[in-house]
Amino acid sequence: MKQEIPYKIYLDENEIPTQWYNVRADMKTKPAPLLNPGTGQPLTLEDLNPIFCEELNKQELDNDTPFFDIPEEIQKFYKMYRPAPLVRAYFLEKALGTPAKIYYKFEGNNTSGSHKLNSAIAQAYYAKKEGLKGVTTETGAGQWGTALSMACSYFDLDCKVFMVKCSYEQKPFRREVMRTYGANVTPSPSLTTNVGRKILSEHPDTTGSLGCAISEAVEVAVTNPGYRYVLGSVLNQVLLHQSIIGLETKAALDKYGIKADVVIGCAGGGSNLGGLIAPFMGEKLRGEADYQIIAVEPASCPSFTRGKYAYDFCDTGMICPLAKMYTLGSQFIPSANHAGGLRFHGMSPVLSQLYADGMFEARAVEQTAVFEAATQFARVEGILPAPESSHAIRVAIDEALKCKETGEEKTIVFGLTGTGYFDLVAYEKFNSGEMNDVIPSDETIKSYLDKLPKVPGQE
Ligand SMILES: *Cc1c(COP(=O)(O)O)cnc(C)c1O
Repeated sequence: MKQEIPYKIYLDENEIPTQWYNVRADMKTKPAPLLNPGTGQPLTLEDLNPIFCEELNKQELDNDTPFFDIPEEIQKFYKMYRPAPLVRAYFLEKALGTPAKIYYKFEGNNTSGSHKLNSAIAQAYYAKKEGLKGVTTETGAGQWGTALSMACSYFDLDCKVFMVKCSYEQKPFRREVMRTYGANVTPSPSLTTNVGRKILSEHPDTTGSLGCAISEAVEVAVTNPGYRYVLGSVLNQVLLHQSIIGLETKAALDKYGIKADVVIGCAGGGSNLGGLIAPFMGEKLRGEADYQIIAVEPASCPSFTRGKYAYDFCDTGMICPLAKMYTLGSQFIPSANHAGGLRFHGMSPVLSQLYADGMFEARAVEQTAVFEAATQFARVEGILPAPESSHAIRVAIDEALKCKETGEEKTIVFGLTGTGYFDLVAYEKFNSGEMNDVIPSDETIKSYLDKLPKVPGQE
């Protein structure tokens, strides 16, 4: 008998995964190591320990252990807002008139409004366990800073957040959520750090960038005893923690015997995408199953589709380690017009290697098309999506419309990473017809790529 698929597939509490999955263990070509920018040598635990938490550094460097036990305290915290539902988008399917079956994994059911809490709580836990006083970080749109301030207040850690200046000004409410959870929030670039003062003296009118905020947060961490720096995306450890998204998704699909054909996620630094696709990619790497996997990025910050796979700095200040990744250059800053998030110039080294190996495809989409999809989705499925998540919605709709033409009944799964209640300035622009698409020219991109650091052995 054919089983009716419910609107929402919830796992039971005791079905939440108790281990994270490390996709690197199944990669034949491992992601390239982080390099010390001074020596060009791969970073060791000893190099990393003054900057990041020790246990997290072990996770960062471990390319071989397939599963890591999730500590019990983190499992307990996860139960506050997990399992996240896997929703069958019946209303959207109907509105599109598609034979495709669309599912989305909704990560917006917590106050931070995104998947970022999955890694924030893990990073705060290891910082506390190490006996630290606090952590520093950067935040762009503010979801990561919010998630981290929630996690830090849970473990009674001090939390210093450098927030990209244009977001600090555009999103005062997000800032207040962080302060409510006890975080200290500074607009970046600021006059409180050497690197901030240097950037401001060279570019007094800058609206800031994630890369610049990272430089400031790292400086504060390494110059204050008892502090370490934590990062909400890009790093291998963050993808490891975010694998909870994919593991739950896979378990929910398996519960009803559903096989995904297409898996779609938006890509900023790559953490939600890396987490969502992890178990699917694992099967693909082990030759057990095949999936079409699509990364979606903004046309105004197109690292996969127009960047170069090369060693680059993770930050504008060029003080962080070098990562081999698809990058637009550490000095690249998307147009101030760009309202859709996903502004980071680089991409997770794990995803970058998988992409270089042809394990998935990437598409760049323009922001007006993204907000059209967001609006369409909100009107039929109820949830007001984050602009970042709406990149994935755009391509999920495009794929479902293709199925309408071909009559294929594909099963499409996408990651709905969060809600957009704090992104209403962007929605306002779209609703008033004031949003336009700013796509960097080839010359612009080349000018930044020409400045990539020289690393021995890299052309
Ligand atoms: C931060 C964020 C993203 C992008 O970050 P990734 O590391 O690429 O996942 C996507 N969606 C939401 C809602 C976010 O907050």
